[in-house]
Amino acid sequence: MSRLFLTVALAAPLTLLSLPSNAALRVLACEPEWGALAQELGGSLVEVSVATSALQDPHQIQARPSLIARARNADVVVCTGAELEIGWLPVLLQQSGNAKVQAGQPGNFAAADFVRKLDVPVQLDRSQGDVHAGGNPHIQTDPRNIALVAVALAARLQQLDPAHAQEYAKAQAAFAQRWQQAVTRWTAQAAPLKGVTVASQHKAFVYLYDWLGLKEVVVLEPKPGVEPTASHLQTVLAKLKATPARMVLYAAYQDSRPSDWLTQNAGVPAVKLAFTVGGTDGAKDLFGLFDDTVARLLAAASKP
Ligand SMILES: [Zn+2]
Repeated sequence: MSRLFLTVALAAPLTLLSLPSNAALRVLACEPEWGALAQELGGSLVEVSVATSALQDPHQIQARPSLIARARNADVVVCTGAELEIGWLPVLLQQSGNAKVQAGQPGNFAAADFVRKLDVPVQLDRSQGDVHAGGNPHIQTDPRNIALVAVALAARLQQLDPAHAQEYAKAQAAFAQRWQQAVTRWTAQAAPLKGVTVASQHKAFVYLYDWLGLKEVVVLEPKPGVEPTASHLQTVLAKLKATPARMVLYAAYQDSRPSDWLTQNAGVPAVKLAFTVGGTDGAKDLFGLFDDTVARLLAAASKP
């Protein structure tokens, strides 16, 4: 009798732990913007977890055991690709031992495969720093790219979970409509930004420039991923004397000191951009991300 009780008592918590969740697909997103997009398209059909926060550098994170466990249990990993995660994702996927999410499998989704890449090097020269062979990976700074990725991601969710294909298709159609309206609004609001000169800390915003017509005159990092040195900052100052910038942009995850230095030494206002969902208080979701980005750029551009 007591033995039976013990068995039941021990078995109960295990049963609870192994209860399947109601979600049809477990999604592991590499960055918050893709986690947010998967949630928009999957709703209650997906259980989303995100590998990085908006305050972490997505180029380099540690593949901690808890993250490896999440990769092991994922039905699909949704990442940027274009080598953004080359420093940690291949190791993470390998250590996960999860065949479904390996490169080339339907459970491995790379957002950058579905947009036109900018800054694709004609010649690959790694001595030029952390140069990405597949082009600039920071595609999420143009909302038109988000729309393209949404179409591809919805199709992938349908492929992975055909039983709910109609629901994903419906969610995608609704999202596409709301998003298109928002893009039209942002584009109109941001019209005064066309031709505005900017500096940036990292080559993180080329897609944003391509969308809004901002003109980058100088980058504070001497090479991608390399912190600016004092001597390089002097070169930057000289360049800005010839071609002044109206603002210097940095992403929420970055240390603002190089931008602050430029503010102090050249009077160029520093503008923190969320860069992804959660990067600023206003960037609570994908819509908030661009509401907030456009508002911050306009505020800086309206300063005399
Ligand atoms: Zn980068």
